[in-house]
Amino acid sequence: MNREHLRSLFTAKSAKVDTNRGEAYYAKLYDQCKARLEQLKKIEPLRKISIKEILEDEGVSRRDFLKWVSATTAMLMLPSSFAPLVAEAAELMNRIPVIWIELQDCAGNSEAFIRSDGPKVDEIILEIISLEFQETLMAAAGHQAEAQLDDAMEHFKGKYLLFVEGAIPVGPGREWCTIGASGETFEEHLKRVANDAAAIVAVGTCATFGGVPAAAPNPTGAVGVMDVVNDKPIINIPACPANPANMVGVILHYVLTGQIPELDSLLRPKFAFGYRIHDNCERRAHFDAGEFVEEWGDEGAKNNFCLYKMGCKGPMTFNNCSIVRYNESVNWPIGSGHGCIGCSEPGFWDKYAYERPMADANIKMAPNGGVEKSVDQFGLGLLTAAGVGIAIHAAASAIAGKKSEGDKE
Ligand code: SF4
Ligand code: SF4
Repeated sequence: MNREHLRSLFTAKSAKVDTNRGEAYYAKLYDQCKARLEQLKKIEPLRKISIKEILEDEGVSRRDFLKWVSATTAMLMLPSSFAPLVAEAAELMNRIPVIWIELQDCAGNSEAFIRSDGPKVDEIILEIISLEFQETLMAAAGHQAEAQLDDAMEHFKGKYLLFVEGAIPVGPGREWCTIGASGETFEEHLKRVANDAAAIVAVGTCATFGGVPAAAPNPTGAVGVMDVVNDKPIINIPACPANPANMVGVILHYVLTGQIPELDSLLRPKFAFGYRIHDNCERRAHFDAGEFVEEWGDEGAKNNFCLYKMGCKGPMTFNNCSIVRYNESVNWPIGSGHGCIGCSEPGFWDKYAYERPMADANIKMAPNGGVEKSVDQFGLGLLTAAGVGIAIHAAASAIAGKKSEGDKE
């Protein structure tokens, strides 16, 4: 892979994040969003539940809510003038019906958004969405649950957002993964429920790229949603688990604009997956200075040096966890001393989940500890490493043949 080829990968349209589209664009978008919210206000809420009351019950102050609104507006890459609209959209989340199905999974993404000692605003917002069907959370089981799903699909035909968690087995033996008394396979089930959805949100790396079930030797032939459904808008929110902030971001964007957000070539929203972990990592200064952890527990580890030599795949991984973090923004893997294993990239379990640097990444230490003298070496090394990640984008995109721009409702 030569340097020119890598440069072209970096400058591909799908790899660019345009954070400033100019005044005229935002003025038009503002009017569109306002009209959309007015339209939603006329719709009877699907759940008689007020965000104000829940925030009060959970002890979240108005100030904290407004702080969340500003942060979410920025996360969605909108100017601050959109903040009042984002606040309104949060209050209107109970107008959008959501059906959530689980396939070959561990329910880790469901857990990610319901497990919280003192829920922060993201979790509260997810509580007020109109969740019409969610096997892990609902009381109904068996025939009752099946009837509930059928009712929801019929009642909200063409309007519901379908969240899918888990991979789809399509190889020999896929008939071992079935749902319900009729023995419907996961693939048949997904296709049936997807048929009348307005859009599909694949949450977690299993639903997006096959994830752990697809790891070699992939005994069930596990694949992601985009390999099975090809006639619906699909938004991928990978990671293991997907970050609740990104799930909220996608639903909010849909409520606010009526459209799915702008996507990269792997159908991931650019607002969350437009940058690499490495771009915003708190240990980046140590990487640039050539200061690495060389073995677990050494002086470098005690001083929070860069984890690249311990196998960190942050330079190849596109995700926003270095900014948003996990567990109510308390910490994230690199913050707690372990390198990134690239969980939001296709094939991560086989490609990235080991404690060694990428063999062909060619990132060298600065000869004298400073980045100034070796910026080219670092540049080339980094380009090579990141190029691997971007090449995966490009290859997967070519295979999937998916479009990179946001689709309309
Ligand atoms: S290699 Fe990993 S630990 Fe080091 S700066 Fe990059 S993302 Fe952070
Ligand atoms: S740091 Fe890397 S492995 Fe960890 S959650 Fe983020 S993308 Fe996944």
